[in-house]
Amino acid sequence: MKFLLTDELGRLSKWLRILGFDTVVEKDKRALVLRSLREDRVVLTRDSKMSRFTGTRMVKVNSDFVEKQLAQVIHELGLKINKGDLFKLCIICDEELVPAEKASVKELVPPYVYQTQENFMRCPKCSRIYWQGSHWELVNKFLQELQSD
Ligand SMILES: [Zn+2]
Repeated sequence: MKFLLTDELGRLSKWLRILGFDTVVEKDKRALVLRSLREDRVVLTRDSKMSRFTGTRMVKVNSDFVEKQLAQVIHELGLKINKGDLFKLCIICDEELVPAEKASVKELVPPYVYQTQENFMRCPKCSRIYWQGSHWELVNKFLQELQSD
C-alpha cells in the first residue's frame, strides 16, 4: 500500500517511510486527488473538507499526535508491518536505500557508530547514512507500544 499525505502530516510521513511504505506529501490539494489515482495511493489527511473528493481512497486522520495518527492508520487499513521492511526507505526522500560499504562511511558517521556497527545503508538521493542501532530500538519499542493498545 502506498500513501499520499497532505502537508500537515509531515511527521506521519516519516513514520510510514520508516515502516517501509512508499509515502509522498502533496502540498497542492487540487493536484492531490489526480496524483493519488494516477499513482494508486491512499490519501491521508487531517482536513475534513477533503472528504468531499470522491473516487479516491481516503482516511481522515483524527489526532494531532503522530503516535495516535499511526495507530489509527495501521488499524483502519489493517496494515501489516514487516520487520524486514523497516528502514528500507529514506525517511526524508522516500527513496529506496542501498547498502553502503563500511569503509566508505567512516567520515560520515560518529566514531562510536563506526566502531560498533557493521551494516550501513545510504540514500542515493540525499546521501544520508542509515545504520541499525538506536533508531531500530526506538522503532521496535514504538511498535510494541502500538500493538499493546
Ligand atoms: Zn534521502
